[in-house]
Amino acid sequence: MSPLVASALGVVLGVLATLLGLTVWRTRQQASSPDPAPLVSPALQTTIEHLRGAAALIGPHDEILAESHSAASSGVLRGNRLAHPEVLELVRDARREAEPGVLNIDVPTGLGLPGRRLAVRVSPLGDGLVLLVADDRSEALRIDETRRDFVANVTHELKTPIGALSLLAEAITDAADDPDAVRHFAGRMSTETERLNELISQIIALSRLQSSDPLLAAVPIELDEVLNAVLDQFREQAGSRRITLTRQRCPGAVIRGDRSQIEAALRNLVQNAIAYSDAGARVAISVRRVHDATGDWVEASVSDNGIGISDSDQPRVFERFFRVDYGRSRAHGGTGLGLSIVKHIAAAHGGTVSLWSRLGQGSTFTLRLPALRPDTDAEGTAA
Ligand code: ADP
Repeated sequence: MSPLVASALGVVLGVLATLLGLTVWRTRQQASSPDPAPLVSPALQTTIEHLRGAAALIGPHDEILAESHSAASSGVLRGNRLAHPEVLELVRDARREAEPGVLNIDVPTGLGLPGRRLAVRVSPLGDGLVLLVADDRSEALRIDETRRDFVANVTHELKTPIGALSLLAEAITDAADDPDAVRHFAGRMSTETERLNELISQIIALSRLQSSDPLLAAVPIELDEVLNAVLDQFREQAGSRRITLTRQRCPGAVIRGDRSQIEAALRNLVQNAIAYSDAGARVAISVRRVHDATGDWVEASVSDNGIGISDSDQPRVFERFFRVDYGRSRAHGGTGLGLSIVKHIAAAHGGTVSLWSRLGQGSTFTLRLPALRPDTDAEGTAA
């Protein structure tokens, strides 16, 4: 071959190689494959890698050509393959029919935790390529389920006072000629109306709590001062049952938050301590500052020597509408929502509420909230 022809051929091959290099990309896996490789541009590969959810590009032989960073931990892939036969089937159907497909699958987490529900979507891209995207729907399903349970519980709870009101209205009609009976039934109607009112207020309070962030409009709050207001509200009630309220102050125990919410949380705890103690009991409220490895905290504890809560019921008392003894809760106008409200308020303020209790001996509920360090807030003193 003459040097001229050789160099002309070299130029042609070079141009061809450049053209191929510009238009055709092969993944590492395909480069060694004997079959014709699919075309995956680096741009597509990078796009898939950076997708926020779990996504993968699947080749004509069901191999993974590209995957997003979170795809490996999603449970859909196993190495270079699809982990689930049903997803493989979905991918093959999409490729064959040239139609997108959707499938919900449950993926075990393998950590003894509940599995995950994934919505897997596949779209054929041509050339045997299929794009797979898997959305983790577990959280959305859990929220839906909680909402459904809540609506069912609310409906059930509302039926009791509404049913009672309707019966009492009938009783009043029947006793129209007996003024004493009418007065008696009217009195009971007003008790039921108060219950209904309390229940609706608590439901509204809980739903407001779930949709608002108290820290957005937070102010410094001195817990001693809030407790002054709370205890003033219960002195008469406690006195009428000879329940002694004692307290230990802690000046300078300041937190940041929504004052009305903190007051509501402490009110619920004090109200329960009085309601679930027998006449002549003692309710002690103390505030203290705590410094530990997790930071600076302010703790408000409400202790009683009342009926106490069994070990098996303790984890449940913070659930909405849970009551150990429905009759006793109802007798003091309880709704079963108080402690779930306290738990929400604590969490929304970056804190916790914990419980120590022994059946027949009493209970201590402790609200623990992040302490406000004087140097972190320039807004001034306690609210
Ligand atoms: P309720 O409106 O019924 O008081 P809560 O959510 O405030 O609802 O409390 C849930 C349940 O936890 C109560 O019904 C009661 O059985 C139990 N409980 C709460 N506080 C105390 C306490 N200090 N001592 C004993 N039992 C309590």
